[in-house]
Amino acid sequence: MDCKPLPQNCSTPVHVIGADPGQVKIASYARCVLDPTKTAGSNIEDFTRPSTVSSTDCFPSRKYRFESLMRLTEKVEKSRVVGQYKEALQQMSQVSLKAPGAAVDYAEAAYATLDIRVAELMSKDRRRRRFARLRARERNLHHMATAIAYGAEQKAIRNRRGKAKRKLKKQLYAEPRVVFFGHAQFGHGSRGPCPRKALLRRLAFMVPVVLLDEFRTSARCYSCFGVLTQGSRPRVLRCQNSRAGVGNPCSVQNIDRDTNAAVNIGALGMRMLLGVERPRVLRRKKTPRFQF
Ligand SMILES: [Zn+2]
Repeated sequence: MDCKPLPQNCSTPVHVIGADPGQVKIASYARCVLDPTKTAGSNIEDFTRPSTVSSTDCFPSRKYRFESLMRLTEKVEKSRVVGQYKEALQQMSQVSLKAPGAAVDYAEAAYATLDIRVAELMSKDRRRRRFARLRARERNLHHMATAIAYGAEQKAIRNRRGKAKRKLKKQLYAEPRVVFFGHAQFGHGSRGPCPRKALLRRLAFMVPVVLLDEFRTSARCYSCFGVLTQGSRPRVLRCQNSRAGVGNPCSVQNIDRDTNAAVNIGALGMRMLLGVERPRVLRRKKTPRFQF
């Protein structure tokens, strides 16, 4: 997916946020401000300098509390399958519409058990639990999306009251910001801990979201594009050029692979906004020559 470069006469600073979905972490993100007036379009490399990345953060899967609530609800729902309702379910499982000529049997069973099934499914307790589950999920996603889009500033506003709060809010929402999200093949369930598509949808309600090809972003160093090798711990990498004796030493010694990817994605997003091509090392072989 592409986005148009910023116009030449643009003078407003743009907040650039790079986010990378991971398996262990739900999303890592890095943020930086692109100010066209300060450097007149020459600050592409800024995002790659550790000092200018204003913050990096992530959501570990354990923070996704919705998961535990869902498991609890499932447990409770299972425990309610007793007595008449259990019999009704058994009766329904014996007939199948797929079997030839079974339509009459199916209809009979469906009508015979209708009252019992409806009474259970529409019962107050069951509905309340389902709604609580939905709310917990939405609340969780909303918090994650706000943290990615607005970060610590949003937290600071939460503690204010009255006029000051309204003023800060207005300022915050007026600042243009773009989220660049790593376009991984994500789903949920076995592929990851949370519904990332729902998270993306939430995020897109707040700020423009651009899906970026994350090819090699977690395999190359964000500072010098050197090859990253296995570090001291799992999922922690070190740059090949950080060894002593190499001509142009790099300071990246221990970096989490998802954080590295988030910074890389942010830097690519910044290039996209400035209309500068994707660096050669991060390009796929079989793509058109000009690729963001
Ligand atoms: Zn490096």
